[in-house]
Amino acid sequence: MNGKQYKVGIIGATGMVGQRFMTLLCNHPWFDVKVLAASGRSAGKPYREAIGDRWVMDASIPEKLADLTVLDAEKDMDQIVSQVDFVFCAVNMPKDEIRALEEKYAKAECPVISNNSANRFTPDVPMIVPEINPDHTDIIQAQRKRLGTKRGFIAVKSNCSLQSYVPAIHPLMDLGVTKVLTCTYQAISGAGKTLKNYPDIIDNVIPFIGGEEEKSEQEPLKIWGSIQGDVIVPTSSPSITAQCLRVPVQDGHMAAVFASFEKPVDLDDIISRWNSYKGVPQELELPSAPKQFLHYFTEENRPQTRLDRNLENGMAVSIGRLRRDTQYDIKFVCLSHNTLRGAAGGAVLMAELLCAKGYFD
Ligand code: NAP
Repeated sequence: MNGKQYKVGIIGATGMVGQRFMTLLCNHPWFDVKVLAASGRSAGKPYREAIGDRWVMDASIPEKLADLTVLDAEKDMDQIVSQVDFVFCAVNMPKDEIRALEEKYAKAECPVISNNSANRFTPDVPMIVPEINPDHTDIIQAQRKRLGTKRGFIAVKSNCSLQSYVPAIHPLMDLGVTKVLTCTYQAISGAGKTLKNYPDIIDNVIPFIGGEEEKSEQEPLKIWGSIQGDVIVPTSSPSITAQCLRVPVQDGHMAAVFASFEKPVDLDDIISRWNSYKGVPQELELPSAPKQFLHYFTEENRPQTRLDRNLENGMAVSIGRLRRDTQYDIKFVCLSHNTLRGAAGGAVLMAELLCAKGYFD
């Protein structure tokens, strides 16, 4: 890197993901938080007052950000854009309003690194898992042309549920993966909740998370897709089917996975592919990149949510219980931290990748 620090804003700083951004960015070597923004309900107040008793991170509110006055993401946009090089965005609003807000920032020449799902299927918006499809940044040129911008663009992070099993399947793709079935066991922080404010989940499993199965099945196909002209065209295989359950766990999404292949597969080969897999973030040694992306556990009762979700600062994926059904079919379980790797951490890593490629200059 060039030693430059980039000024950033957090839109949705009072939310669950926004709080993660605050803790991840308060001492970041490349990014310096200058602006916190949320809705009109929080605007005009010092952050500490605006967040009140909603702060749920283990670490306390970063001192240097606690007294910043929260701005209104919509009404104060010009002021925000004038103070930052780009923004992180994680807001809870209707999808069409999020799409409009993100596009407004991009058109004001302020790049948007988004956690929201609203733009995930906009064909020229890259949806990036940095270890898997770092080259999808190339579509930004076409998006800038459509938006009529020089700097401004939108890049999105994928849904958190798939960030356990898609990383595990990715190094096996050249073995001819034909079908993936997955059942995810998802933490309540994914719904912006805590065990304290979600009594319905105590001693309970809820077999429905609105929209989650569709995202889990369709988003991987865009991530594995290819740039053709001015759009990203999703791949058509493997076929993916998912069931997503909410479980009484604070953080960490687990997935039970069944995968089928065109040819017979070797279990030792699969484990070795997982343990040795390196992506661009590892090669570039990006600040938030785990040293090893995928870790295979040989113990028969791992990975476990409480023991393993924070592996490599919550940025690595744990895998275990690899077994064979037939020569062509395997099953395993995997786990990733939904608000670190799956949300704010994944977005920060994506921003580091874009930064290293010069997209914020
Ligand atoms: P959340 O805890 O409900 O926080 C929502 C944030 O949005 C708050 O800062 C809120 O500000 C702000 N907001 C609401 N209406 C707004 C408006 N009109 N203008 C500007 N800001 C507004 O939600 P979250 O769990 O952090 O999720 C945020 C986004 O990230 C969602 O799109 C979600 O789908 C996505 N996401 C979440 C996770 C996760 O693990 N939680 C994972 C992946 C993606 P006020 O406090 O002022 O109301």
